[in-house]
Order: sequence, then structure tokens, then C-alpha cells
Amino acid sequence: MPRLTCPMQRQPLEPLLERLERADLRRRRRTIERLAAPGSRAELIVAGRRLVDFSSNDYLGLAAHPEPAAAMAECAARCGAGTGASHLISGHGAEHAALEEELAAYTGRERALLFSTGYMANLSVLGALADRGETVLLDRLSHASLIDGALLSGARLRRFAHADVAAAEHCLGVGPEPVTVLATDGVFSMDGDVAPLTALARLAQARNVWFVVDDAHGLGVVGPTGRGAVEMHGLSADAVPVLVGTLGKAFGSFGAFVAGSAALIELLVQKARPYVYTTALPQPIAAATRAALRVAQREPWRRERALALTARFRAAAASAGVPLAESSTPIQPIRCGGARAALEAQRALVEAGFWVVAIRAPTVPAGQERLRVTLSAAHHENQVDALVEALARIWAQVRPEACA
Ligand SMILES: *Cc1c(COP(=O)(O)O)cnc(C)c1O
Repeated sequence: MPRLTCPMQRQPLEPLLERLERADLRRRRRTIERLAAPGSRAELIVAGRRLVDFSSNDYLGLAAHPEPAAAMAECAARCGAGTGASHLISGHGAEHAALEEELAAYTGRERALLFSTGYMANLSVLGALADRGETVLLDRLSHASLIDGALLSGARLRRFAHADVAAAEHCLGVGPEPVTVLATDGVFSMDGDVAPLTALARLAQARNVWFVVDDAHGLGVVGPTGRGAVEMHGLSADAVPVLVGTLGKAFGSFGAFVAGSAALIELLVQKARPYVYTTALPQPIAAATRAALRVAQREPWRRERALALTARFRAAAASAGVPLAESSTPIQPIRCGGARAALEAQRALVEAGFWVVAIRAPTVPAGQERLRVTLSAAHHENQVDALVEALARIWAQVRPEACA
């Protein structure tokens, strides 16, 4: 009988966890009760406390909206909860097909392909477009799923300094293995700033490499009609041939998509392992997303409100002396001088009635720990003002030297 485990090679796990704890890097899940009742405004119950949520990506206030929830329930009664198989076997249904057409129309692309998660969408795109012997070039602050997609593709991964077009251009010209894909977040998930898409698109076109924009946090929110960072820069489908979007953020539902040419989408259907070898997303989720997309388009006041509350937050924070980063999107990071200071600020905010989460390494580089405040159309002006008051108090009293 072969030995199943070799005791010499097994490491005890507890010391690893203890090391995380000592470094203030241990993460904790909280069981959260989200209040969806009419009249509740971005409120949660955490460990029996009612808190205002300034941590979610529900920028348009659609996660608890009754229309997507009703569409989900109706579809579940009609189609069932599960799909039973992958898309290429028997899991692909009418709700998926309709949502894909609506997403293609929404983004102005030939076709769109639905994925269960944005994480899988990015693994798929980079796996399909990059290969061994090639290089994938990413902004240093790109989302983990782009990094993992590049690693899984077998290509070499290079990262350029954040939002630095000259650095990207330099990387395109060096190295033994040619760059075939240049990818970036549209709106950076932990910083809230918008990538220099016009210059990067020009660079990608000039060097004939695929340009991939993951606009998980821009779609639905920024741009003249909410079509995201690509629309904000006035870029065509030619300039950005591969657009990744997620549906669990501004659209308040779950899932993700890739939009692009018919050939790109067909290649993904054929080749993308995270698409081919996984069970199709439940149809009720696609139905909920379709409803959310309708609400988002019918009610542009939602993104206008999210952006207006963002401006209100920034103005109040600036006059209260709370340090802000350069971000005009609803993602408003407040840098803290280390993991412990960030956790202390988070605890103090809970005491004041707010749920804001300390973001630590490896989600952000060590030394750049922060509170990530996000604003939503669901917030009330008074809640934003009260958050700024609490932040100002915490900054003045708790750790004046820790956060800069
Ligand atoms: C959230 C996020 C993803 C992952 O999307 P999920 O649908 O949550 O898996 C991908 N890219 C970026 C930039 C994100 O912020």
C-alpha cells in the first residue's frame, strides 16, 4: 500500500495562522444581516449592532432593490434554482441568452459572454489570449484575478508602476518574450482612481497587443451614461477590444461578463476552461441581473446620486481635515499607517455606528493599509455627514500620527 501522507512533509498549520494574527493580518468573517426592508438605507446588523454600511460595492443601491429580487423569485418558480450542467452540456438557458444580448447592447459590443464570477472571467480572458513564451503586462495595482489569470496562462507576468504609461511603454519594449496582452482595471478597486485608458489604448494599438480593461467598479457608475471608464474616455470597441465587467457590484446581483467581438467570444466559448468546465450560473440570478440592468438604465439618478454623495463626502472630509486620496469615484480610501492603525480605526467606526473595513496586505501593498469607504445611492446625506464627523473625531483623538 502506498503511503497517503508523508509526515516529514506535513507542516502544522496553527503556527501559520498565529503568524498572521501577530502581524495584524488575520482576517475575520462576520455574519452579516443585510436589511432589505423598504426604507432601510444601506444598513446591516453585525453582532447585534445596527450599522450603516460604507463598505459594499453596491454603488447604485440595487442589491436590496425589490425588482431584481422579484425577478429572481419569479424565475426560480418557473425554471428552478439550479441549471444542472455546464453551458455546453445542458445548462444554457433563455435567461442567460437574453442577458448576454442585453449586455452586448449595453456595452456596444458584438457579443457578450456570461461568467459565474469576475474572477473566472479574468482567468478565462488571459488564459485564452496569452500563452507560454509570451508576456502579459499588468498595472501593478491590478485586481488579483488578473494577476492569477496571467500566472495560470503560463505566460510571463510583468507589472508596470501604477497608472504610469511611460513605464508600460518601457516594458513593452524589453524582455525576451513578446507582450501579447496589456491589461488594467478601469477603476482601481482599492484606490478608486481611473486608469489612463486613452494613452494605454493608443499604446496597445501601436504595438498590436490585446488591450483588456476590467471595469468591475466603473460600469454602471462612471461615464456620461454610466457605461464605465471606457465611456468616460470616449473609447471605441476597437480601442478596447476586450471589456470585462462584473454584475455583483453596481448591478447588485452576481456574475460577470466579457464583451467584445463575435470571434473573441466564440474563442472563449471554445477555449476558456473556467467557462467550459463549470456549472452554468443559476438562471434566477441572470433574471435578477436583467431586472437590475433595467432599473439602472431607467433611473440614472442612482449613479448621479452616488457621485453627488461622493462629492459631498470629499468636501466634508477635506474641511474636517480627514486625508483623502485622489479619487472621484465612490471608492474613497483613507490611508492608515499600518495594519494595526487601520484595524483600530475600523473598531472605532463600529463604535460610532459605521461598517467600514480595514484593507490590509496582500490586498494592498504592506504599508499602504487603508480604510476603504464606499458611497452608494442608497445612503442618506445625513449618514454621509455623520460618517465624516466620526472620521474626523477618530483622526483627531485616536491615532493622529498613524494616518496621513
Ligand atoms: C471584484 C472584482 C473582480 C472579481 O469579480 P467577482 O465577480 O466578484 O469574482 C474582478 N476584477 C475586479 C477589478 C474586481 O474589483
